[in-house]
Amino acid sequence: MASRTLLLFDLDGTLLDSAEMILESQRLAFTAIGLPVPSRERGLSIVGLSLREAFVELVGEHGPVEELAEAYRQSFHGLRTQGGELEQLFPGVKPLLAGLATSEPHCLGIATGKSQRGVRAVLENYGWSNMFSTIQTSDDAPSKPHPGMIENACRDTGITPSRTVMIGDSSFDMKMAKAAGAHAIGVSWGFQSVDLLRASGADEIVEDFEALHSAITRFG
Ligand SMILES: [Mg+2]
Repeated sequence: MASRTLLLFDLDGTLLDSAEMILESQRLAFTAIGLPVPSRERGLSIVGLSLREAFVELVGEHGPVEELAEAYRQSFHGLRTQGGELEQLFPGVKPLLAGLATSEPHCLGIATGKSQRGVRAVLENYGWSNMFSTIQTSDDAPSKPHPGMIENACRDTGITPSRTVMIGDSSFDMKMAKAAGAHAIGVSWGFQSVDLLRASGADEIVEDFEALHSAITRFG
């Protein structure tokens, strides 16, 4: 019998095309407390970190980190309540996950800098409430790239890191995977460059969902 594989997915930039939603929430948060809004590039460079760590990166440890985080939470929640059309699935996500969820050797999980509340809202929105065996968030472990989320996911599922694949679009995902002893697949359609993903330890890079499916199948 083939041993099971744990497939851990990042959300923002990997499954969710959420750049506009995140940037608009940042814009509202910085504007609310009267600070200059970061550039698009800088704003996207911190996606994947937990909220607090993201704002520490943007304004420094001694900046108004808590105020920004709270303003961001409120803005993001407000935009989602208004309909959330700024946040979409990348085309190809639904068939990929539907196929994997019914294929025996695969166990699906999530590892994200979002909160549990944020993740639950996404899962409910797409009818995925029962799709993932383990959901690791900023509420459950230190921010990526700390390996805690993967360690928790392995404990939850009884699958070893060596049979675990982390699929993400950021340097933080790749470094987290390597720190945990997992396989790291970087996706090219997200918020960070392929060069940065390679430099951060990606074992392979995929350019589309078909290539991702092939890479998963090859891993076993
Ligand atoms: Mg991401």
